Amino acid sequence: HKRPKIVILGAGYGGMMTATRLQKANAHHDAEITLVNKHNYHYQTTWLHEPAAGTLHHDRTRMRIDSVIDTKKIHFIKDAVSEIKTDEQKVILEGGELEYDYLVIGLGSEPETFGIPGVEEHAFAIRSVNSVRHIREHIEYKFASYNSQEEKHDEDLTFIVAGAGFTGIEFVGELSKRVPELCEEYDIDRDKVKIYSVEAAPTALPGFDDELVNYAMNLLESRGVEFLINTPIKEVKEDGVLLNNGEEIKASTVVWTTGVRGNAVIEKSGFEAMRGRIKVEKDLRAPGFDNIFVIGDCALIINEEINRPYPPTAQIAIQQSYTCSNNIKALIAGKEKLEEFTPDIKGTVASLGGKEAIGLVGSTKLYGHSASAMKKVIDNRYLFLLGGMPLVLKKGKLNFF
Ligand code: FAD
Repeated sequence: HKRPKIVILGAGYGGMMTATRLQKANAHHDAEITLVNKHNYHYQTTWLHEPAAGTLHHDRTRMRIDSVIDTKKIHFIKDAVSEIKTDEQKVILEGGELEYDYLVIGLGSEPETFGIPGVEEHAFAIRSVNSVRHIREHIEYKFASYNSQEEKHDEDLTFIVAGAGFTGIEFVGELSKRVPELCEEYDIDRDKVKIYSVEAAPTALPGFDDELVNYAMNLLESRGVEFLINTPIKEVKEDGVLLNNGEEIKASTVVWTTGVRGNAVIEKSGFEAMRGRIKVEKDLRAPGFDNIFVIGDCALIINEEINRPYPPTAQIAIQQSYTCSNNIKALIAGKEKLEEFTPDIKGTVASLGGKEAIGLVGSTKLYGHSASAMKKVIDNRYLFLLGGMPLVLKKGKLNFF
């Protein structure tokens, strides 16, 4: 009989975990499994603020895909997905095409620009190994440029982080730890360097516990971060930002972290989407398709308690991979009843650089070192789920103290 073809798009949290789950279940090669990813490595998106600021090397956040999956059991293709042709059950890649019987879409997200002019042209995004390597090098270059010019340009030492949500705050935390090191290295006064965290909403970390938000803001302010809250950005220019209130801030570096939308492939392929994300059925299938599953940042699921979408997280992407792989196994086994997905939100921890963090785990608030240790436990737990203890030892964060 013909073996069903399962194609997994994207080797992020959702895609990698789905692949390893299906690999385990496919001991007898009942299905032909293919994983497609732009790069030959898997990176941990949730760590990217660190290599972006230069506090951790990017190689610590990534691993070769063939070091985690068994390429005798899963066919790995390094290529970029351009489009999904659902009517032909085909995926168009930059360098070819693939047929599928079952498809898993786990292509992650893209920065949400809200159509604000200049963001795409002039701002950096914390998005991939490529993008964060670029940010780190750019920051260093600006420090190196400063003293090498006759006429000093203060904007070389001005850093604007647009958005004080989780990603923005985590990046500002790392940057505020990195700046003193850079000042030392490039003979620059710390006072010359400006770090702005600019947020349109009335608070940093909107929706998070007030006490924890205050803790984070006080800590970051003590490291010289200036918050501009309630301050929407109107435009990003080559030499800085223009605020809604008419003021301009000159800066050679603007990092955009105001949230994400689903991968552009979703809309290009004609799926009905909200900010690029497909509102999936309870079993994680795309509405109207009985063989297409969508997981991670490409999927939209509603928190029924508040009737609003869950913010997309790695935590949810990982949990969805279990439901998704179980449901594909069930379909192949001819079962009709599929599992329904319910997220089990264990908590949220945001790092603030160094050994500082804030977190809410259940109803327990965590600050400082205990929150930072918890963050490492979360990061290591993922590595454990993906590749067991050997992967934790190889790539984990083991410096707890
Ligand atoms: P990703 O893990 O982003 O993976 C997508 C994959 O698809 C990538 O490997 C990419 O290379 C590949 N890809 C993209 N486009 C194509 C294409 N066209 N063709 C082929 N391959 C492609 N979440 C938490 O739960 N906790 C946190 O503490 C947390 N912190 C974060 C900190 C930062 C700095 C950021 C940026 C995010 C953070 N998040 C956190 C959110 C979390 O990273 C995402 O929700 C999660 O990565 C989504 O997983 P995913 O599998 O959908 O996509």
